[in-house]
Amino acid sequence: MAAMTRPLRPLLNRRLAGFGTTIFAEMSALAVRTGSINLGQGFPDTDGPEEIREAAVRALRDGRGNQYPPGPGIPELRTAVAEHQQRRYGLAYDPDTEVLVTAGATEAIAASLLALVEPGDEVIALEPYYDSYAACIAMAGGTRVPVTLRPRDGRFTLDLDELRAAVTDRTRLILLNTPHNPTGTVLSRDELAAVAALAVERDLLVVTDEVYEHLVFGTAEHLPIAGFPGMRERTVTISSAGKTYSYTGWKIGWITATPELVGAVRSVKQYLTYVSGGPLQYAVAEALRLPEAFYEGVRADLRAKREVLCQGLAQAGFGVYAPAGTYFVTTDIRPLGETDGVAFCRALPERCGVVAIPNAVFYDHRHQGAPFVRFTFCKRTEILQEAAARLKGLAPNA
Ligand code: PMP
Ligand code: GLN
Repeated sequence: MAAMTRPLRPLLNRRLAGFGTTIFAEMSALAVRTGSINLGQGFPDTDGPEEIREAAVRALRDGRGNQYPPGPGIPELRTAVAEHQQRRYGLAYDPDTEVLVTAGATEAIAASLLALVEPGDEVIALEPYYDSYAACIAMAGGTRVPVTLRPRDGRFTLDLDELRAAVTDRTRLILLNTPHNPTGTVLSRDELAAVAALAVERDLLVVTDEVYEHLVFGTAEHLPIAGFPGMRERTVTISSAGKTYSYTGWKIGWITATPELVGAVRSVKQYLTYVSGGPLQYAVAEALRLPEAFYEGVRADLRAKREVLCQGLAQAGFGVYAPAGTYFVTTDIRPLGETDGVAFCRALPERCGVVAIPNAVFYDHRHQGAPFVRFTFCKRTEILQEAAARLKGLAPNA
């Protein structure tokens, strides 16, 4: 008998149409299905420091954090975050009123945008942008205004005139990301100073995603925009333990900002997760106090892996944009005679058993991102070598 119910309209609400499954989930599933080397989703294939894992075990055993931790995060972690910002950047934050612990940077981004964006507000985001930015701007009812980073002199570069031109009377905030995923660009002092001056001049908020703050190479230096004149009071700085300490599954993140901004973001955050990861918060508090040698070791390890992968990709015929930061390298597939990164990434597992991410999905102007493909190098060296060997088969003269 025919059902008498009305036909179901599409279930996912209109604001999120088009945000069905993240590219990372899709590509990691493809890697599993085809048994390919997964250089797509950015997660390390080895765990972080043993003593940090042990700190988590101790907290679990000792019953610290096994019941709801305080809404803003445990005091030990808030203090450790404040000390880290002071020690590293000379930025003073009050752990009681100016730090908020979140369920990873992902929740920090969502809560910040939901708290600070009114329906109809414009949000400027650097394109290509990390996928959750677009979804969260949409959830907040905001309008995304992409400003495209364009390749110039071997680096994806922010055009400051374009950024200036993108600001309108409806602009509420600039959503920044440095070191930048997926391009590996680290914004320079001059670029950040110009963004800061614009934000002050036009009275904009800045939400800045700095999850790769420790992963910079060579002469690149990560500078938090909160440290520029006039920015302390208008910036929400976001970071997280996942990337720095190689525990992406723990999902412990945080924001630092003024009490007013933290209060606004906390109001939203308490209705998203309320709290999360109690015992892990104790472990991350210890991680934040690791000596400088730890961070140097992480960078040295990644720098060597970056060389292995970049060289392999260049030998395979890709155009390579060596990253100044993050653990991603963006490549240009046109030298291989290819133009469509999405089709290329869908076919790559069958062709040579490697998975990568098509940058086009991080663009509104899809055609601009079409020839770019991202690979991660946060994998063991032998895996990167094997991937490089497999990719060599793609070289036009192979
Ligand atoms: N921002 C950027 C730029 C990222 O690449 C990621 C992915 N890890 C996140 C935020 C999310 O971080 P978390 O895992 O802490 O939620
Ligand atoms: N940040 C990771 C990346 O860019 C993915 C995180 C996720 O799957 N949401 O690869």
